[in-house]
Amino acid sequence: METIVFNKPYLTGKEGHYIYQAVLSGKISGDGIFTKRCHELFEKKYGYKKCLLTTSCTDALEMAALLINIKEGDEVIMPSYTFVSTANAFVLRGAKIVFCDSRKDHPGMDEDQIEQLITKQTKAIVPVHYAGVACDMDKIMALSKKYNLYVIEDAAQAIDSYYTGVDGIKRPLGSIGHLAAFSFHETKNIMSGEGGMIVINDEQFFERAEVIREKGTNRSKFFRGEVDKYGWVDIGSSFLPSDIIAAFLYAQLENLDEIQQRRKYIWDTYYNGLKSAAESGLFKLPEIPNYATNNSHMFYLVFNNSDTRKEVISKLKEKNIYSVFHYISLHKSKFHLSYNSEVELEYTDKYSECLLRLPMYFELEPKVVIDALLTIFNQLNKK
Ligand SMILES: *Cc1c(COP(=O)(O)O)cnc(C)c1O
Repeated sequence: METIVFNKPYLTGKEGHYIYQAVLSGKISGDGIFTKRCHELFEKKYGYKKCLLTTSCTDALEMAALLINIKEGDEVIMPSYTFVSTANAFVLRGAKIVFCDSRKDHPGMDEDQIEQLITKQTKAIVPVHYAGVACDMDKIMALSKKYNLYVIEDAAQAIDSYYTGVDGIKRPLGSIGHLAAFSFHETKNIMSGEGGMIVINDEQFFERAEVIREKGTNRSKFFRGEVDKYGWVDIGSSFLPSDIIAAFLYAQLENLDEIQQRRKYIWDTYYNGLKSAAESGLFKLPEIPNYATNNSHMFYLVFNNSDTRKEVISKLKEKNIYSVFHYISLHKSKFHLSYNSEVELEYTDKYSECLLRLPMYFELEPKVVIDALLTIFNQLNKK
């Protein structure tokens, strides 16, 4: 029986070639030729005002926290149903994290519950485009204007996905907030093993972003010949990746359309293959709001209860198919509870207990997984 893993990084075949080219160029530290090519490609394809590759999405989020000057006592609103880095980046600067519940129809944060969480200390809202499906950004940007708050999109999963606002304009995710963070971790659609990018849409941050990313120096300006020497001008760290990473990433980006098409085929095959089984009421299929597109980052099912989920995971495993759940929601994490009291987040808990992610990668043949699931659902329905 063939093993079907949960994720398998896809290689386009050009990665090694570009890495070799980067090595031959003689400059493999940050901001070499491939880093520039990646920046240009993103800025051209998606119209982002300024892109800077980072070593991870975690790093991009940490840069964002530095850029908006998060300090002790500031409050940052975000979903609890997310990866730890969304919160950690701000906790590192001394922020208090205020968790917002998920939506009833989607694991993303419930935009209608944000306003009641805003206080005088609130500094930013961090929407996470879960599964690459947009949060309702009109609502979030309206709150940002009304209360003068920064919006940082955690777009880790959201490459090549869009939001259509009430004005009818379709905007790429990552282009709407003041700042946005993407991930190229090997579990994402486009990857370089580890890797990330910060997108800067608010021009006030252009210069300082370059400085913070280059250890607090104005080295980027120096390389452009804008200053005759460089030095320490601000706080910062080393957030820029080697050009070897960028060379790998560039090979993936050249194949973005092909990768996305294949993932979309897998997603649609799952959806259509499981549609009638969902009528039994055992589980729900993912819902995509009208204003959002689906970049096929993830295919998940939401079961009625955690016992059913557990049973499906183990029955799939018997058939050598590996499905995974997540997240252990942050508001219930040991670390957060060590210095905060517990809050009640109904839908976050529901997704935490009942959501199951199915295998999703370029080379996957989804039919095997669908057939296995249909057999399992039949058994469960007879019980
Ligand atoms: C993957 C992910 C991250 C972290 O990305 P890294 O590149 O591994 O640092 C952050 N937030 C979300 C929502 C993610 O899915």
